[in-house]
Amino acid sequence: MSKYSSEILNSIKAYTPGEQPRDKKYIKLNTNESPYPPSKGVIEAINKSEIEDLRLYCDPECKRLKELLSDAYNVRPQNIFVSNGSDDILNFAFMAYGKDGAVFPDITYGFYSVFAELHNIKYETVPLTDDFKIDTGMYLNRNKLIVIANPNAPTGIDIPLEEIEKIIKSNPQSVVLIDEAYVDFGGESCAELTEKYDNLLCVHTYSKSRSMAGARLGFAIANEEIIKDLEKIKYSTNPYNINRLTQIAGAVAITEDDYYKENCKKIIQTREYTANALKELNFTVLPSKTNFLFAKSDIISGEDFYLKLKDRGVLVRHFGSERIKDFNRITIGSYDEMVKFIEITKQILDEQRKA
Ligand code: PMP
Repeated sequence: MSKYSSEILNSIKAYTPGEQPRDKKYIKLNTNESPYPPSKGVIEAINKSEIEDLRLYCDPECKRLKELLSDAYNVRPQNIFVSNGSDDILNFAFMAYGKDGAVFPDITYGFYSVFAELHNIKYETVPLTDDFKIDTGMYLNRNKLIVIANPNAPTGIDIPLEEIEKIIKSNPQSVVLIDEAYVDFGGESCAELTEKYDNLLCVHTYSKSRSMAGARLGFAIANEEIIKDLEKIKYSTNPYNINRLTQIAGAVAITEDDYYKENCKKIIQTREYTANALKELNFTVLPSKTNFLFAKSDIISGEDFYLKLKDRGVLVRHFGSERIKDFNRITIGSYDEMVKFIEITKQILDEQRKA
């Protein structure tokens, strides 16, 4: 750190993104990207004239994108906020709504604690149950900023909508942020509850089910007043936060939703194939409603498995924290990639048995 930096900056532990190595071609199962490309229309829409228009600023209001999203999610454009990846929305929400503190699970998306610390917010983490579920009763009547990923990451386990509604209802004095980054792979969205509850902030991303992690596009659905708060932060920091190409790609993708829904179905099937194959190899596999599996072997440590996979050209995500150190988070790739992953896993386990 430089000698000029603030106390907070000196003290926070920044988020560590998943590896994006360039040294060789990996089967990349470590950052929950889609194995499928964006839809045809998206690729065609980013054409030469759009690229030439990059000299011009983009629409700060993202009007077209908001209109299409509001139609797709059955809300009004005033109920939509779009952002540079959903991480931006999480950041803004901690900035805006953390004054009375925040509550989130002990094992969840690592960025929540980083944002809390960055904004000097006191936060409490609630342990997951022994079977790695979110203990929903612990989030009732807290009246602090509640942040829940549903389905949760890195466990992949979801919470039924009734439980989410109880949490929203019992915290009328605070915002309840439901991070639905992975909801399209089998979870239940709370988006429509935003009409009923003015404290609900439902957050989505194009990074997973819509194959656009590199475009950086997220969106929130909420009561108009919450959207105005988020807009105010955006206009106080970076009004042109979604570039021209991303706005176009995001709008066209919404009109081609069938393609993305079909991809989600394929990913769910491949997930079930992979989960069963891992269970046959004696892995404990948590029940996932996402595009990844959280799994641990009975004979090899999480770290050794991660390293041996990497040696053989397969990247998965390993987290070092005590309770989950024997697990790895494995993104669901294409069917062929997962067949290869299982084949390599078998070789690693055979070697381990002989050692
Ligand atoms: N929420 C969760 C639970 C995630 O896993 C991620 C992806 N790392 C995000 C939000 C952020 O996604 P993005 O900024 O790419 O929209």
